[in-house]
Order: sequence, then C-alpha cells, then structure tokens
Amino acid sequence: MIRLNQVLDNIRTYHPSADLDTVRRAYEFAAEAHAGQTRRSGDPYVTHPLSVAGIITELKLDVPSVCAGLLHDAVEDTSATVEELTDQFGNEVAFLVDGVTKLGKLPYASREDRQAENFRKMLLAMARDIRVVLLKLCDRLDNMRTLAHLPDEKQERIATETLQIYAPLAHRLGIQWIKTELEDLSFKYLYREEYDALKREVAKTRKERMRYIHDVERLILKEMNRASIRCRVTGRAKHLWSIRQKMKRTERPFSEIHDAIGFRIVTGSKKACYEALGVAHSAWKPIPGRFKDYIALPKPNMYRSLHSAVIGPRGQRIEIQIRTEEMHLIAEQGIAAHWKYKEGKPGVADSDDEKFAWLRQLMEAQNDLKDPTEFIESVKIDLFDGDEVYVFTPRGEVKALPKGACPIDFAYTIHSKVGDHCSGARVNGMIVPLRYQLRNGDTIEIITSPHQKPNKDWLKLIRTSRARTKIRYWLRREERERALALGKDLIEKALRKHSVSYSRALKSGALSRAAAELKCHGIDELTAQIGYGRLMPAQVVELVVPDNKRKKNGAESAEEDGKNPIKQILRKVTQRKTNSGIKVQGQEDILVRHARCCSPLPGDPIVGFITRGRGVTVHRRGCPKSLDLDPERRIEVEWGDKAHVEHQVAIKVLCANKPGLLANLSQSFSDSGVNITQAHCRATDDGRAINTFHANVRDLEQLKAVMRSLIRIKDVYRVDRVVAEA
Ligand code: MN
Repeated sequence: MIRLNQVLDNIRTYHPSADLDTVRRAYEFAAEAHAGQTRRSGDPYVTHPLSVAGIITELKLDVPSVCAGLLHDAVEDTSATVEELTDQFGNEVAFLVDGVTKLGKLPYASREDRQAENFRKMLLAMARDIRVVLLKLCDRLDNMRTLAHLPDEKQERIATETLQIYAPLAHRLGIQWIKTELEDLSFKYLYREEYDALKREVAKTRKERMRYIHDVERLILKEMNRASIRCRVTGRAKHLWSIRQKMKRTERPFSEIHDAIGFRIVTGSKKACYEALGVAHSAWKPIPGRFKDYIALPKPNMYRSLHSAVIGPRGQRIEIQIRTEEMHLIAEQGIAAHWKYKEGKPGVADSDDEKFAWLRQLMEAQNDLKDPTEFIESVKIDLFDGDEVYVFTPRGEVKALPKGACPIDFAYTIHSKVGDHCSGARVNGMIVPLRYQLRNGDTIEIITSPHQKPNKDWLKLIRTSRARTKIRYWLRREERERALALGKDLIEKALRKHSVSYSRALKSGALSRAAAELKCHGIDELTAQIGYGRLMPAQVVELVVPDNKRKKNGAESAEEDGKNPIKQILRKVTQRKTNSGIKVQGQEDILVRHARCCSPLPGDPIVGFITRGRGVTVHRRGCPKSLDLDPERRIEVEWGDKAHVEHQVAIKVLCANKPGLLANLSQSFSDSGVNITQAHCRATDDGRAINTFHANVRDLEQLKAVMRSLIRIKDVYRVDRVVAEA
C-alpha cells in the first residue's frame, strides 16, 4: 500500500520544485472527507485515492493532476462540493475532479463493438481535458487491482467494461503498460479457469525461460557491441492476454506459440536502430514477412519501432523490437509522455511538429498548431469538440450523431416508424421541444403519437441525411396519396358527364388502355398524373368514351370543368376569375398568382407551381424561392397571347441628387408609355439619390425600353429591376 511520502518522493523525481504543500493539503482534505468510510477490503477509503495519486505520479503528471487524483471521489462520495474544491485548490483541480466525476456517471451497458467505440469517443468528447481521461484510467487501474473484494457479478461487469472501454482507450492514448495490466486483470476475472491454466503453464517453464532470456540477451548484446552499437537489451514474456489472443487467433496451444518471448533493443539514435537491425539479420536468419518499419510509418497512436522475427539461438523463433529511448518512452507512456511536467524543457520528440502531429492524428482533430503551449490550451478546450455528439438510448446504448442534431434525428436512428411518429422527447427526464440540440451524454427518450406525422418544418431542424430521406419520402408519399384521390375524383366526374361509370371503365379495361395510350405505367400513375395536373381528364374521356357517345351539347361550363382540373381546384377556393395572360398547359384563363418574390413579366422565362388553395403561382425561372418548392407540384406554364395585362414592377434608380433630374426620370417613363403608380425618393449622405418607382408595364420588352432610356439620362448611375420586396 502506497504512503503519502512515497507519492511526494515520486513527484520530486520529475518535478523537484513542485508545490508539495498543496498535495499534502489535498491528501488531508481527502482523508477528512472520507473519514469513517472503508473499502470492501476493510482498508480506510482514502487508500484508494492515494493509490490513484501514486499511479498518476508514475505517469509523471503535473501537481493539479495529482491533487485531483487524491480528491477524485470526494465530490461523488462525500459531502464535499465542487465549490469547496475551487475555494481550496483552485479552478484547475476542481475542474479535473468534476470531469472525472461526470465520466463516472456515464452508464455503459452494451456489449457491441460499435457501441464500445462510440462510448470511448464519448468519454474523450466529454472529458475536454486529456488529463481527465488519464485520471480515469488511473482510477480504473486501481479499481481493477482491488477487484477481488467485490461480489462476482460486479467483478464481471467491471472487467467487461475495462476490456471493452478502458484498455483500448489506454492503447489509443499509447499508454502500453496500463493497457497490458488492464487486459491481464480483466482476463483474470472474466475467464478465471483459462487464466489460471495459462498462468500455470507459463510458470512451469519460467525457470527455463528466464535462463533462455538471459542467454539471448547476452548474445544479442555481444553482437551489437562487436558492431560498436551502444544499446540495452531486454527480454520479456508477452502478457497473458496477448498470448491468449494469439492462441485463439492461430488455434494453437501454448507450447506452439513460439514468439511468446520478445526482445527489445533500445538504442541512442534512429540511425543506430537500422544498424542494429542489420546486425540482427546478419547474425540470425530473418523470418520472411515479419519485418515492419513503424519508424518510417508510425502507427496511428504514434508507436514507433522496428519489428522483426528471426530464427534465434538454439533454433528458436524470437521477436525483436528495436527503438530509441524516446520511442520507448512514447510506446510505454503514450500521450502521458507529452503531458508530464516539463521544466521549461521541450518534451521528448524530435521536433514540436512531429511531437504533436501524432496527437492531432490520434484525435482526428483539424487543429493546425505549432506552438506547444497553444497546443496544450487547445487540448484542454477544443480537441475533443469533434463534429459529433454522443447520446444514450434509455437502454444505455450509445448513438453518435452530428453536432446540432435534434430529437427527430435521434428518433430516426431507432426506427423510421419512431421517427415518423415522433411527437416529443424527454432528455434526462425533462420534456424538451423537438428543436432541442442534443448534447454529449444526454439520455433521450422519444415520445411517439399515432397522430403525429412528419412535416416540412422538420426538414429545417434535422441534421442527418437518414432523417432527411425518410421525411422527404413521407411527404412525397402523402402528396401522391392526395394526388391519387383527387385524380380519381376528377376522372370519375369527367366520365359521369358522359354517362360512363368509373367502375365499368375500369372493368372493361378501357382505363388501362387509356393509361397505356397516355404513356402511363398503369392506372395508378394515370390517376396520379391527373391529380398532379400533368394530364387532363378530358384526355381520358377522349380515349374511354366512344365518339358517338360523347355529349357535345352538355353544359359548356360542365365540360370545361371536366377538362380542367386546375380550374376545379380553384373553383373550390375562389370564384374570382382573372386574365393573367398565362397559359397553363395550353389552357388560358386560369387563376394565376404572380410570385411576389420575383414579379415575373411577360417575356420572362417562367415556371408554375400548383399551390393548393391558391391556384398556380408563377415564378421567374431560377427564382431562388422557387427552388425550395416541391418539384412534384411543378407545372409547365407559358405566356399566352393575351398577356397584355398590366404588371406592376419596381425599378430602382441611383443618380446624382440634382434639381430637375427627377423630372427627367419621370419623363422617361411617360415617353415609354408607362404609368408610375408610386415613387420613393431618398437623398443619401454622399450627394446621391435613390429613387424607387413602382410602375405598370405590359411586358419585359416595355420594361427594358424604360430602363434603357433611364440609364441614358445624364447623372444616372444605375438602374435595377427590384427582384424581391421585403
Ligand atoms: Mn475512484
């Protein structure tokens, strides 16, 4: 059991001038806060935070980290508060403790691999400061070391979580020794018998192996010395979990796992590494396909080494790793090697760029930073603010969603039916609006209602393409259903006017033939096309009702109605009839609205949209607003011959602010035969004037003529057609 003095001594070795008083105070605070509490082992509770602090000093972390290690359970398990810690130990320590406490509260339930990866990302994202994750790893390591005292099912749960979450996290952060210890401890509690058996087997051959390791170490060293390479050589047995994994992978017993022993050659320089490799390969026969150069091509967690395997002394296969001291430190300590206390000295890597490149890569961050201090700041603040948020389902599954995602996005990740009927959500137990933006660690529960369905506004809230696709699909289907109902209605009515029943036309096959004739795939498509207004019921009548039966003398308006679905839609809404001068699919005399956003004029290229309840709205082609409209409602329109209606347009004229100029401007209008209906004139500070004229014009030609004559006037700088009115 570690003592406070040991922790303080550890700190002195790497940080001689550290403020040890604060560490002592933190210990006293923790001892007092946890007073009376014991661990399951019967030890006073404070032995746990003290051990965690000890592990933290092995990672050579700074004083705030050590203090936070001592205090890490104080907020969660005692009456102490974050405010108190801030008061006594400052913001940094309180922030770290708070971070560890929050991570401890995340429920982890799933056993799926994909889930585990998301959960690890969530831990990183929530921690914000890498030291919080390191503290959490140290905490977990001590918990695993003392796991024997917990009940069986707790052991299994914690060991599973360790193997799935924390060991890979340690690996990802490059802290090899924590990773291997966590793996072996998990192995022990998860597969007890297998673990014991393998341990016994490894122990059986221990003596022999130790001698062998010793011999080979000496041999390698001799070869290296002969080539004047200065290095140290260590041999070690692989850790049990990695032997076990290898046995599983290769389906071989332990006795056939030959490279269970590895030798490490640690040299003084990169050059010496390659030289040592050459020496090893000339002394012993290399095994083909086993050489890997992780110095030239580092692993994503910045692990660097040369790997090879050779037929070594006594004909045994051995694994060799060759690296420099610095590479060794990074291989063992990983990210912590960069985090350790530095007294004005740069860290261990060759250059800052190289040193921090790996972390950037590691965290998939885009930061382009060169200065280490700036980098450390950004690790604290930004590095883990990725593009994703991680949230829980009520069952504890983790879902990754893009930043800014709302409960609707979440609902669609569960099932499209949940999404389609999502009427609200509870986040961490509280009802939130659908526009709520999900945050890391939220637990989301979707409220559904059979009456709820997707609507267009949802498209503005959602961030995932899955939700977008599903909502669009729903909206289109709904639109189609309406078109089908309307289309059937229109066909029925049109046929009835000629005393033909719909069902008879259907049964006789006349409708199918009509559909084929009109190039529709089946009656449904024909019906939908009529509903959308792309085909006319009259076209069906023509094909279904024989010439001699067609009633030529029926009431004209009735026939017209049968022929013109659009007008029918409109009649339901309004009796108003205007002459817009626009032909909708060859039909003139249809109620048309000119879109206010772009005020199309005869001559402008135009496009129409069926607007239920308001007829057809005509936009200028390319009008940005029209691009937002549902393409299914789009309808071809053109200017008719009767397009001699007056259209209001607005023209903006920028000119010098001179007397008499306004008169010239209005003269131009009347010369072109155009009436001004309104004018706004405003002088600007720089001696110019902005005049906005509303006028009625016949068509584009006339408008252009006016504009041409306006721009020709002296002291007029600019003439523009006003496209959108606010
Ligand atoms: Mn703890």
